[in-house]
Amino acid sequence: MLSDTVSRSSRCVFVIPICRRNNLSFVKGKNMHFNLRSFALFLLLAGIAAGSACAQPAIQPNVDITQVPAAAQPSPQFNADAATEAYMAMIPPAATARSNAYFEGGYWLVLWDFLVSSAIYLLLLQTRWSARMRDLAVRTSRFKPLQTFLYFAQFIVVTYVLGYPLEYYESFAREHKYGLATQTFGPWMGDEGKALLVNLVLGGLVAVALFAIVRKLSKTWWIWGAIVAMVFAMVAVAIGPVYLQPIFNKVTLLNDPKITAPILKMAHANGIPTNDVYEIDASRQTTRMSANVSGFANTMRITLNDNLLKRGSPEEIQSVMGHEMGHYVMNHIPKFLFFLAVLSLVSFAYLYWGLDWALERWGARWDIREVSDPAVLPLAALMSGVLFFALTPIMNTVTRTQEKEADMFGLNAARQPDGFAQAAIHLSEYRKMRPGPVEEFVFFDHPSGYNRIHSAMVWKGENLELFEKTPCPPAAPPANPPAKH
Ligand SMILES: [Zn+2]
Repeated sequence: MLSDTVSRSSRCVFVIPICRRNNLSFVKGKNMHFNLRSFALFLLLAGIAAGSACAQPAIQPNVDITQVPAAAQPSPQFNADAATEAYMAMIPPAATARSNAYFEGGYWLVLWDFLVSSAIYLLLLQTRWSARMRDLAVRTSRFKPLQTFLYFAQFIVVTYVLGYPLEYYESFAREHKYGLATQTFGPWMGDEGKALLVNLVLGGLVAVALFAIVRKLSKTWWIWGAIVAMVFAMVAVAIGPVYLQPIFNKVTLLNDPKITAPILKMAHANGIPTNDVYEIDASRQTTRMSANVSGFANTMRITLNDNLLKRGSPEEIQSVMGHEMGHYVMNHIPKFLFFLAVLSLVSFAYLYWGLDWALERWGARWDIREVSDPAVLPLAALMSGVLFFALTPIMNTVTRTQEKEADMFGLNAARQPDGFAQAAIHLSEYRKMRPGPVEEFVFFDHPSGYNRIHSAMVWKGENLELFEKTPCPPAAPPANPPAKH
């Protein structure tokens, strides 16, 4: 995944999608790259969130970055630091200021998402709204799994409505303010509705399964719950590209040999047995350029978005695909799923202990009888939200480490350091390029733009012979032929 921010774009170009909010989402309307991070949050049943908006002119496109700056041209004096600064200087200061403001605003949204979703869950508990939703479900059906599903459906809708002001600000108004969104309100709302429905159905199934386990296995539910949650996560990742993504975007086979031929050559050279590259019409929702690897096992695939195809140079596209292939070859999705499995077990153990502790103290006030009562869901979401908020730097570091690996793989595979630098500059439209080290550690799920360009220029500096105009003369025959025995 070549791309995204702390936020909702997906995480590759550098991006596998990352969702900032602690909600139960399988999908987010805007970036339909399948979002592993939101999965992690989803597995643990965590929220929603409020804000306001004001309109500003759209951000202007970046400068033409297809020219290699003088300091980055191959020469005996080539210096990676100077070449990196020459690329950085191509970004106009006004664009840097705007993307810094956008990205730093994202830091605050991490906090606001957490605070607003926590407030919503506390409201549902303290006013016994959650208990009343459970009572309605119990009155409607005597069948326990159906009661759970009916409760979950109310929970999803109520939390969405209460969190709508922040969702509107974060996903619609703010994206338009920075010129990153392409949808008018109607189509955006349509995507929101679809995402809500998908979350309701898939999340409802997970909730029914988990509460059945809690009812039947009162001592060991945290172990079995973690296992079942992981199985659902793997199934959802596997069906994502084939069944979930097409709900929001059109995914087609890319058929332009000028673009696919070098990509497929690179794929075959690196042991990827595919003859297909996919394209997604991400411009339906956003101006962001990105690409990603999605799926699991047989559905694993590489997809480029149409913004990248329209605006990226051939070198840039190849460098991005090299990065995506790195995720593929290094099995980053299965590895991330393994990480989630461990995290899931830890989280369920934490819930096993924490839910009992909280219900003992406040269960009567909230009218929640036991852990197997579906009305406990806001409490589970609240506790999971606290855990994941605290884990933000760790989650980002796990992802960022994989992204760095994919960057290095991509440089070696594509051999397009200048294309890679161009891609990093394109991503600067919505990412801060030069954060401080602590800032990068806490908030960045990809290496910063500066570090990415610098890696590319170091690579170029060590491989200058690939870029020199005059070909090397053929090797001279050995001066002293080997002696015959
Ligand atoms: Zn990536």
